[in-house]
Amino acid sequence: MKMCSIASGSSGNCIYIGSNETNLLVDAGVSGKRIESGLLSAGVDPNSLNGILITHEHTDHIQGIGVLARRYKLPIYGTVETINAMLRLSSVGRIEEGQLHFVKPDEEFLIGDILVEPFSISHDASNPVCYTFTNGGHKIGMATDLGTYDSYTISKLCGAEVLYLEANHDVNMLMVGSYPYHLKQRILGERGHLSNETSAKLICELLHDDLQHVLLAHMSKENNYAELAYETVRCEVEQSVTNQSKMPVITVANRDIPSEMVII
Ligand SMILES: [Zn+2]
Ligand SMILES: [Zn+2]
Repeated sequence: MKMCSIASGSSGNCIYIGSNETNLLVDAGVSGKRIESGLLSAGVDPNSLNGILITHEHTDHIQGIGVLARRYKLPIYGTVETINAMLRLSSVGRIEEGQLHFVKPDEEFLIGDILVEPFSISHDASNPVCYTFTNGGHKIGMATDLGTYDSYTISKLCGAEVLYLEANHDVNMLMVGSYPYHLKQRILGERGHLSNETSAKLICELLHDDLQHVLLAHMSKENNYAELAYETVRCEVEQSVTNQSKMPVITVANRDIPSEMVII
């Protein structure tokens, strides 16, 4: 399986997940044009896409979805609440009913040869989900846009060899930063976003011998920076691994530039 971040952060999110036969996007939160060029630079032909999975209806996850869905006649997957909320946004435009596929948390389904499992996340949107992907005995897990995690989240992500995880903000930077009080409270809240520190704790819960790569994602432009997220997570994870050889590779997804293709 392969995974690549096309865009990541509060200004737009899009992830590519693929197997030898199947090519998927999770979210389409930047323009269709940027997604197309990102895919091409990652060596993926946009014409080979088999579908787009949506996590939730916030603009940074759906901005380019209408254009892509119409141009490539792509099936769109999301919970009924997410899809209805998305269709209410005029910016999305018209999408054929036949392209819409409703998913339910904890109900697995196949797209091509990739087994997809949506699972619930704690976020201020309409029944939002994140996803895990399994093919050929390999598993990739993603979790962004969640204010908190619990044993349910861990049970869904456990065993993944690659993790795409939110490290949204540094709590101190957020607290002393320029965001209005209500926005700070929203981000810090149970239905907001994971801090670097909480993300590190979640990774420690998910450590196992086959965890190869953690891609830190959905970073705030104002309240975080790549080196800080990386160092915070690396320090915490290093203390938890019992043997250096089990330390996963940790990288940070860039806001605008596609990441390397992570292959397992
Ligand atoms: Zn969101
Ligand atoms: Zn988001």
